[in-house]
Amino acid sequence: MVQNMQTKRLFERIDSIKLKGVTKKYDSVYAVKDLDLEIYGGELLILIGPSGSGKTTTLRMINRMIEQDSGSVTINDIDTKDVDPVRLRRNIGYVIQNIGLFPHMTIGENIGLVPKIEGWNKKEIKYKVKELLAFVSLSPDMFMDRYPKQLSGGQQQRVGLARAMAMDPPLFLMDEPFGALDPILRKQLQKEFLKVKSEINRTIVFVTHDIEEALILGDRIAIMDQAELVQVGAPEELIFNPANEMVADIVDNQRKFKHMDTLKVKDLMSQYDDEYTFEASMKSFDAIEEMTKRDLENAFVFDGHELLGQITMVNLMKCRLSDKRIMDVAGPVKVFHPYDSVAFALSELKRSGETLGLVINSKRPVGILVSDEVLLKLI
Ligand code: ADP
Ligand code: MG
Repeated sequence: MVQNMQTKRLFERIDSIKLKGVTKKYDSVYAVKDLDLEIYGGELLILIGPSGSGKTTTLRMINRMIEQDSGSVTINDIDTKDVDPVRLRRNIGYVIQNIGLFPHMTIGENIGLVPKIEGWNKKEIKYKVKELLAFVSLSPDMFMDRYPKQLSGGQQQRVGLARAMAMDPPLFLMDEPFGALDPILRKQLQKEFLKVKSEINRTIVFVTHDIEEALILGDRIAIMDQAELVQVGAPEELIFNPANEMVADIVDNQRKFKHMDTLKVKDLMSQYDDEYTFEASMKSFDAIEEMTKRDLENAFVFDGHELLGQITMVNLMKCRLSDKRIMDVAGPVKVFHPYDSVAFALSELKRSGETLGLVINSKRPVGILVSDEVLLKLI
């Protein structure tokens, strides 16, 4: 039966999205001019820039809501021109500021709309709706049968996110999703979103004009100005090496980061706690239990005073059923001195792909440097 035919996915996951020489003009005015940009699979890429700089146009050329005049957009090396646009958009979640929930449909019906169109049965839809509502921290029983106007702006925004996630697309395009919210709620949603982001592990292109939001959420940030890409890089690259005055201005280089070079690791590290120390001979199975109890994602393996490496919950889970000693599964750890410069430490972490370093003084652990936290403390 046609009804039960589920459309096959175009892509299960994103390896890369490449925009090459992409241009869009309205009359003689460029909305986007000769844009070259690669978005990596699994990253959250921020598009930021002044109003009218071409962010929304760029985003919409990725899912073909807008067709470019010239240049190409490829997803996993498939030219989007060769794909039916409706099918393409089914594989891409799209979230905007005023999410446009259907007012005459309940929250449950709104979230379950696309699964319904795709021919899921009632039970499957209900299960998915409940799961998604819980995921965006809205009690399913309380909210499922309400109508959009009975919800606050922030709650509606979460429903919009849940709806976009219903088909579990590997790619999300988000256009100022928190733009209309008051600052406190926005902060709260950003925090929740950061958690969600690492859990769902999807590729996300996220438009904002708020640099704080960009620094908090972005793996990389692309800065646009007057239809052109000015610079793209990790937050710390933009902060330490702005391409021009405009970028420096946006990341507020002048005011907030003036004394960056003089900041030391000790100024921004978190205090070390003996709870983070695990003995080398411990079995990995016991370590999981202990880390769960202490609510830790990372811990450090010591043999007496000798540091052997770090363990993470994720890695331990992988060898869950083994009774290996943690010294045999520990991975390398970046070590810093309290008087290393923060700029140096951040770029070292970045280069090794780590987000966390251990600060050691006179052979004793004294602190932990978490790159995301450092950036948050700076803004
Ligand atoms: P942003 O999202 O960065 O604010 P947009 O991508 O929406 O910017 O717009 C970029 C430029 O293109 C702006 O100058 C805007 O006025 C122009 N533009 C966008 N859409 C249209 C349209 N449909 N017709 C004419 N001009 C447009
Ligand atoms: Mg816009």
